[in-house]
Amino acid sequence: MRFASSRLDPVEPSASAWVSQAAKAAKARGEDVIDLGLGEPDFDTPAHIVEAAHEAALRGETRYPPTNGTAEMRQAVVDKLKRENALDYALDEVIVSNGAKQVLFNAMMATLEPGDEVLMCAPYFGQYKDIVLILGGTVVALTCPAENGFCLTPAQLEAAITPKTRWIMLNLPSNPAGAVYSDADLRALGEVLDRHPEVLILSDEIYEHILFDGRKFLSFATANPQLKQRILTVNGVSKAYAMTGWRIGYGAGPTPLITAMTKVQSQICSGACSVAQAAAASALNGPQESVRAFCQAFQDRRDLVVARIAQIDGLTLAPPGGAFYGLIGCADLIGAEAPNGETLKDDAEITAYILKDAGIAAVPGSAYELSPFFRISTAASLEVLGQAMDRLAASIAKLKRKT
Ligand code: PLP
Repeated sequence: MRFASSRLDPVEPSASAWVSQAAKAAKARGEDVIDLGLGEPDFDTPAHIVEAAHEAALRGETRYPPTNGTAEMRQAVVDKLKRENALDYALDEVIVSNGAKQVLFNAMMATLEPGDEVLMCAPYFGQYKDIVLILGGTVVALTCPAENGFCLTPAQLEAAITPKTRWIMLNLPSNPAGAVYSDADLRALGEVLDRHPEVLILSDEIYEHILFDGRKFLSFATANPQLKQRILTVNGVSKAYAMTGWRIGYGAGPTPLITAMTKVQSQICSGACSVAQAAAASALNGPQESVRAFCQAFQDRRDLVVARIAQIDGLTLAPPGGAFYGLIGCADLIGAEAPNGETLKDDAEITAYILKDAGIAAVPGSAYELSPFFRISTAASLEVLGQAMDRLAASIAKLKRKT
């Protein structure tokens, strides 16, 4: 009996899912595993946000919400975009979905024809690729090397655009590399896109508030107002407010696109949870101290990890400008021999070795289309990260490197 349709064939089991399963299995065997594979803040949702959900439920906001989002939440998004990003959107230019993930899915489902090309900057969030493949689109991965801060250059973008290009996907700052573009870089990419009026632009800004060293965030649409009519800005409350479980994300873009995405959403789920939307609205409208405190904690953790990796011969990590990951270069370890005599041929094998020997779950760069790297999440306490770095250093020191 065949259950899965051929539409799912191009979606390979993801390396990050493999790591998470392997880490869970090791934990179940009683092994001491530090799971740095996960991409979610380890903080609790601030109490005033939880209370807002409670009050909404008690008020009776428990019925089907409008498909595109409650008026309160869409207004909160409109106000947020104005206040924080100097962007003007109307209520019908906003959709609220079950996480930014669903915004991404809705957008691709609403717009892609088979064979349409979607440009993405490798290393990229793995789901970008899978959504496009499920929907019959073609992924065009543009390699953004560490030497260029994992950023796309205008020349690369220009060279990649073809008559089939439907979307360019940007992620500011990026998962997994924490790449951050300068304001001038964003405008230079915008100038290229000016010359290609058929290309839609998706700017995933979910890590907007996790930006280090005093950097100020600039939304792609703010940097390039002339392109606003073909930009979909994607954001959500998961990362900034430690609300991954509430599943609320949003998109802002031209009304016809938002209308098409709403059509998709109405068939999938009839909208996002009403009570979670009330919580998300209170997150956007309420005090922002916790957002700043989370960001500071992530910066301290990044500093610790960068300093410790710098002391490990064979690994490299330039300080990420944002997000809560370290994409660690491990090129010098390819071909090294593990204590059991096995040769580590690629970053997947290095990640498997680190899990077995150091008890640290990390995700290989191949999951993000850029090798040889592995990603650790810094969404763990300084104490846990310090322990993880001790173990990592000890395990790497056991490898016999090629001379
Ligand atoms: N976009 C990026 C770049 C992410 O890393 C993630 C989550 O890891 C998402 C979107 C999805 O976030 P949400 O929890 O809002 O679905």
